[in-house]
Amino acid sequence: MNVPGPRSRELAQALRRVESRNVTYVDERLPVFWESAHSSTVVDVDGNRFTDLTAGFGVANAGHGNAAVAAAIAHQAGVLMHAMGDVHPARVKTDLLDKLAQIAPAGLGKTFLASTGAEAIEAAIKTAIVATGKSSFAAFRGAYHGLSLGTLEVGGIEKFRKPFRRVLPNRAVLLDFPREGDDADAHLEIARRTLEAHDDVAALLIEPIQARGGHFVPPRGYVRGLRDLCTSLGILLIFDEIYTGFGRTGSMFACMAEDAVPDILCIGKALGNGFPISAAIASPSIMDAWPESPGEALHTSTYLGNPMACAAAIATIGEVERLRLPQRAAALGSLIEPHFEQLRANGKIVDVRGRGLMWGLELRNPALAARAVKDALAAGVIVVQAGAEGNVLSVTPPLVIGEEELLHAIDILAGCLSAP
Ligand code: PLP
Repeated sequence: MNVPGPRSRELAQALRRVESRNVTYVDERLPVFWESAHSSTVVDVDGNRFTDLTAGFGVANAGHGNAAVAAAIAHQAGVLMHAMGDVHPARVKTDLLDKLAQIAPAGLGKTFLASTGAEAIEAAIKTAIVATGKSSFAAFRGAYHGLSLGTLEVGGIEKFRKPFRRVLPNRAVLLDFPREGDDADAHLEIARRTLEAHDDVAALLIEPIQARGGHFVPPRGYVRGLRDLCTSLGILLIFDEIYTGFGRTGSMFACMAEDAVPDILCIGKALGNGFPISAAIASPSIMDAWPESPGEALHTSTYLGNPMACAAAIATIGEVERLRLPQRAAALGSLIEPHFEQLRANGKIVDVRGRGLMWGLELRNPALAARAVKDALAAGVIVVQAGAEGNVLSVTPPLVIGEEELLHAIDILAGCLSAP
């Protein structure tokens, strides 16, 4: 395939003149500019077709251009595009919050809405500070919670923090994220000793399956054990399910497979299936630590509860339920696991891991991963790099992807990885 085609190349040059050069990476083989996308197929501006094994950063769980979500947004745009989130809200905001309380793990039912994942984490962090009166946090090496200053404070990938270190208070206590096969009890014991040594920890923040850090699945019992540990130490537990939520790992939320309920759950990405919306959902007793609004909210934003975003989220949840996407992700995960396992024999692959439709293929080095991303693109498959060093290929397709298309894309990927 002629990738990037002439139109993509032109657009890349135009973009370089008007966008911060830090944002879009451009080289001889990247990027392609998307023109349209449907289900798991993307068409670029030159008419090239690709299978998207990223779901656009884990967003389009119900498929790109999902008809029900698109119709809900279009309808809402026709009647009410914007309201006054924390002053005169849209009716549909209440509908969404009711729905979130129904689908959230038991006991969680009071929500802050926001637009991006980082904002949901910020809301959770501020809630933990208000609820506990404490001011520091525990988090994990390799964790990715967003790039705002507040979330960098709990971020575990050093390259993102480095340029800003002088303004970050550096109060987060970092733990190692355990790997599948590790001894859960040994890691829990380390966590206990570490947390006991710090008396100002408001909350422990964890992705139940670490996503951008490299798709690490912790050993069974670890997440559940953290729940018990945090309860016994009086530390709040925040789950960042911004990537793992809405069926991605084979259950509605990854924590449900661990039988662990956090004090605060953060969601985003697939919540709007492409419309920006996120949320931090807490138990009422924790959320009620915030004072009643005296007429001016202490924490809000212009787009909080935007009606189009709320309509998109309600429709997305409807689609996740109607299409039984968690079950579908689990079934497709079982289907592709043996194919990935076969790849282990390939000398370039160090490890294969994942759950549901979130998989990471760890390669020997980042250069191999970067080349595989470009080779796959030229062969019609979109994948991205993950891992703190970029040495992991991330496979997180839309959960609606067809079996045949998925297996074909994995074959293409395997072919790229076996090239000399
Ligand atoms: N948390 C996790 C687990 C993520 O994967 C991401 C983004 O990739 C974020 C938070 C930040 O979300 P956003 O980029 O919408 O701010």
